[in-house]
Amino acid sequence: MAEEKEKSAGKILEEQLFWKFPHIGKEAPGQVEEASEFCEGYKTFLNKGKTERECVIAAVRMLEKAGYRPFEKGQNYHPGDKVYQVNRQKSIMATTFGRQPLDKGVRINGAHIDSPRLDLKPCPLYEKNEIAYFKTHYYGGIRKYQWGTVPLALHGVVVRKDGTTVSLCIGEESGDPVFCISDLLPHLAAKQNERKLAEGLKGEELNIVIGSLPFQDESVKEPVKLMTMKLLNDKYGITEADFFRAEIEMVPAQKAVDVGLDRSLVGAYGQDDRVCAYTALMAEIETMNPEYTTVTVLTDKEEIGSEGNTGMNSFYFKHYLEDLAELQGVSVRDMLRNGLCLSSDVNAAYDPTFSDAFEANNASYLNKGCVLTKYTGARGKSGANDASAETMARVIAAMEAEGVYWQAGELGAVDQGGGGTIAKYVAQLDVDVVDLGVPVLSMHAPFEMVSKLDVYNTYKAFKAFYKI
Ligand code: MN
Ligand code: MN
Repeated sequence: MAEEKEKSAGKILEEQLFWKFPHIGKEAPGQVEEASEFCEGYKTFLNKGKTERECVIAAVRMLEKAGYRPFEKGQNYHPGDKVYQVNRQKSIMATTFGRQPLDKGVRINGAHIDSPRLDLKPCPLYEKNEIAYFKTHYYGGIRKYQWGTVPLALHGVVVRKDGTTVSLCIGEESGDPVFCISDLLPHLAAKQNERKLAEGLKGEELNIVIGSLPFQDESVKEPVKLMTMKLLNDKYGITEADFFRAEIEMVPAQKAVDVGLDRSLVGAYGQDDRVCAYTALMAEIETMNPEYTTVTVLTDKEEIGSEGNTGMNSFYFKHYLEDLAELQGVSVRDMLRNGLCLSSDVNAAYDPTFSDAFEANNASYLNKGCVLTKYTGARGKSGANDASAETMARVIAAMEAEGVYWQAGELGAVDQGGGGTIAKYVAQLDVDVVDLGVPVLSMHAPFEMVSKLDVYNTYKAFKAFYKI
């Protein structure tokens, strides 16, 4: 055996006083297989839930299977009982009752299930030069140029005049057609190339090709439009007037796949923030008899500022907590004041190709675990929930007690831009809250990438959180 070199005093002191987040692949290679296995279920969830409504349906199915029942006011619930409540088909809350009374505080884990996409305009269908198109209005922060020449699928619901609702989905089954936004060929793009990148494709150029064959009747003025409307009518029984009673979302048709020769990454649309939604849901389901009552909320409208009555800036969430408090006849204020919440959302993973956008010492990295984000916001932390040292300490202790790999990270370098999460809306309720989630490469692009090890450790962090 080789003689171990004696460490210098400086080396010893360095080990004692400095800190670096380890690479999980180096420190715990045994986790690679566990993480990969865990992500098979995650990929299935991503493929089933490409809209907030579909995520709610998938979540209800998972919760029901695990023994959760719809929450009923006035019921007598016991520690360990599991309930859920759906808000308007677009957000959902799940709870496991704890041993402590509710006014001792709840453990809240919130993720969002809406993702950037292209919504159809209220009057979307038109024909131009014998091509039928859908007009779109983008939802959330997208880089518009990324959405051209990408195969798109159609998802949504239409409420017909007779009050019945029909769900639409085209482009997901094998053999389905897909849809696409065209872009210029390089040969003719000299003028377009002069545009700024932000205008590579403009908002009114995000027009989706949906058909090109005419209905055979010379007297019809827009025969291609008529043909596409007829095909939609044949399939779904809808007419043009039904688009006014619809929510139709165009999303990338691509399925979730492994990325890399080593299959270390998951590539898919909508991982912001379904990666936290899935891991939160799994942790919720696997939590049995917790000390404190859990509230896992999968919310909508985060990408446009948590607006509307399915977003976290609505009272819907507080009303659910009030209903819980009412069950035990305790003060909802105490329940909130003593509460602790993870605002579970993704952060930007350090991208070596675009290193200027990051500050290397305070960025999150692939394969270093879930990222704890003390504050988001823009400029001088404007719009941020700046988590307290005490809150950071509680969450870090919870993760370290369970051997979770985690890292700290900011959302990019100072003054590079910024962003927000649901954290500030939870903080508004008088709850201690901090952001935690998965680092993502190409966030908000039609195809985002995350590390399987990071996904797995985020799930482990959520499980650890429900133990404290
Ligand atoms: Mn997000
Ligand atoms: Mn986002």
